[in-house]
Amino acid sequence: MKLIRTIKEIQSIVESYRQQGKIVGFVPTMGCFHEGHLSLMRIARKGADVVVVSIYVNPTQFDPGEDFESYPRQFERDEKLAEQERVDILFYPSDKEMYPKGYLTYVTVNKITKVLCGVSRPHHFEGVTTICTKLFHVVKPHFAVFGQKDAQQAIVIQRMVEDLNFDMEIVVGPIIREKDGLAMSSRNKYLSPEERKDALSLFQSLQLAERLITEGERTSKDILSAMKKLVASRKGTRIDYIEIVDATTLKALETIKGEVLIALAVFVGNTRLIDNIVVNC
Ligand code: AMP
Repeated sequence: MKLIRTIKEIQSIVESYRQQGKIVGFVPTMGCFHEGHLSLMRIARKGADVVVVSIYVNPTQFDPGEDFESYPRQFERDEKLAEQERVDILFYPSDKEMYPKGYLTYVTVNKITKVLCGVSRPHHFEGVTTICTKLFHVVKPHFAVFGQKDAQQAIVIQRMVEDLNFDMEIVVGPIIREKDGLAMSSRNKYLSPEERKDALSLFQSLQLAERLITEGERTSKDILSAMKKLVASRKGTRIDYIEIVDATTLKALETIKGEVLIALAVFVGNTRLIDNIVVNC
C-alpha cells in the first residue's frame, strides 16, 4: 500500500493507473476505522482494480462548538487496517494541502441540506460537499463508496455528482451495526458504559417504527410519537430530531408511502449520534 500526502503525487499516480485502463474505486473517510469503514473498502475492492482510501478530518464540516479538536485520530492503527483490506493507496493530506492560505471556494447543495442534520449543523453539508468535490477532482475515481449510515450525506453527494456532472458513480453500502444493533460510529468511543446502554434506544425506536408499519400503521405522527416516547424513556438522551421523510426529496411525509427514510439524531450525554432505516410501502 502506498501512503501519499500530497495532491500532486496522488493526481499523477491515479492518472497513470487510468491511462492503463484500471478502474479506480475511492472511499473517503475521517479515519478511526471500524467495520463500517472496512465494509466500504471491501465494496470498493470488489469493483475496482485500484482502491484509494482517504483519511482527512475535514475542519469545514464541523460547526463551531462541535468536536473537531477532540475527534478521534489513530492513524497508525488505520494504516494497518487499510493494508489488511488490500487498499492500494492511502491518501492522508494535511490541512495546508487541502485548504492552503487564501482558500475561498465552497460548493453548496440547496434545500436537501437545510433539513434533518442541516438544521442543527448549518455549515456541515457545505463542508462535506466542498471536501468531496476537492477529493473527487484530486483522486478522479470511477466510483466512490459512501455509507447508508450517513443517509442524508449520501443523498446530498449523489445530488451534487448529478448536478455538477461529475463523471463517476456513487455507491452506497449498508449500515454496519454492533451485535446489539447500535450503528457503528467513530463517535461511539465517546460513550460511557451507561450512555452506551442509552444509545441502544436509537435503533430500538427504528425497529419499533418498522414493526408499526408492518402491522399497518401509516400515519407518521403516530409512529414518530411512539419513537420519541421510547427514546425519551432513557434518561441520558436528548432528541435533536426524529423524522419520516421521502427518501429522495427529504420532504416530511404525513403518510407512509413509497420509499421512506426514517432518520434520527439523538444526543446521548454530549455525544450526538445518528441512525436511520429505509422502508418501502
Ligand atoms: P466518517 O469517517 O465517519 O466520515 O465515515 C466515512 C464513511 O463511512 C461515510 O461514507 C460513512 O457513511 C461510512 N460509515 C460510517 N459508519 C458506518 C457504518 N456503521 N456502516 C456503514 N458505513 C459507515
